[in-house]
Amino acid sequence: MPTPLHRLPRLSDELGVDLWIKRDDLTGLALGGNKGRKLEYLIAEAVAAEAQVVVTCGAAQSNFVRQLGAACAMVGIRCAAVVMPLPYEPPAGKPEVPPLGRGGNLTLDALLGVELEVLPDGTWDELFEATHALAEKYRSQGLRVYEIPIGGSSPLGAYAFWEAAAEADGQAGAFDAVVVPTSSGSTHAGVAYYHQGTATRVVGIACDPEPELVEELARLAAGVDELTGLGKGMKPADFELKMDWVGPGYGVPSTKGNRAIERLARSEGILLDPVYSGKTFSGLLDLVETRELGGRVLFWHTGGVPTLFCRE
Ligand SMILES: *Cc1c(COP(=O)(O)O)cnc(C)c1O
Repeated sequence: MPTPLHRLPRLSDELGVDLWIKRDDLTGLALGGNKGRKLEYLIAEAVAAEAQVVVTCGAAQSNFVRQLGAACAMVGIRCAAVVMPLPYEPPAGKPEVPPLGRGGNLTLDALLGVELEVLPDGTWDELFEATHALAEKYRSQGLRVYEIPIGGSSPLGAYAFWEAAAEADGQAGAFDAVVVPTSSGSTHAGVAYYHQGTATRVVGIACDPEPELVEELARLAAGVDELTGLGKGMKPADFELKMDWVGPGYGVPSTKGNRAIERLARSEGILLDPVYSGKTFSGLLDLVETRELGGRVLFWHTGGVPTLFCRE
């Protein structure tokens, strides 16, 4: 870091906007992605706490678990993760589709020595409970455990993205809009926190069918307030979260997302992922087409490329 930030000349011409990209697919840590920024702080805290094992959770194809595995390898801490192929929210229900399958991040987790506990599909709450239970099991064995919330979305994770937004600002000046994916929330929370009270609009494209996520975003921003002392006091209504591009559900590729991945690949030679950045880019394309977005626009590439290599 700093990761590159550059213009997308061919797509800008095609779309009639001034479109730029922040390359957080290039952060490093086992093929890169937005979790690298959060881990810079989270791993430092784990090392300071003299943790012997880090425990987290996610979907089986979690990019966070893969990058955490790389970070743990670098500092010599065991990495354990509880995963489900396709965890879901009870109101939305389980999508009627097969999950992403094997390969992808699972191949890399195995190489990195991540200790995976794979559970059958269930709700997110069931996944969180099983994760706390695993942490308890290690504690009862006398190990020092450092638990990390899903996706690294603690206030420290959001803090890393407050810094990232400042990094982008220093590279290319102000944008009319910044478009980011939102799932566990700290990417969106940190970037929106930085731009709060400025002319830059931050648009989060939801990758989970959960409109209540804005409450989590406000909680994370309150945590960043404590870390920075800036007292921004952001409310749920201060976050722009768009629900129209989730597709069939969390972790399930969408037709629009897949088309957007192809479009960026064929116009600029840059690869997106089917769970987050592809869906988000499809949202950006639609918003530009309907003139809801225009001028100088920054697309935040959060990585995720390994899931392009999933197989049945
Ligand atoms: C985790 C992830 C996101 C979502 O970021 P959050 O901070 O969890 O909201 C977006 N894109 C990719 C590739 C990810 O792995």
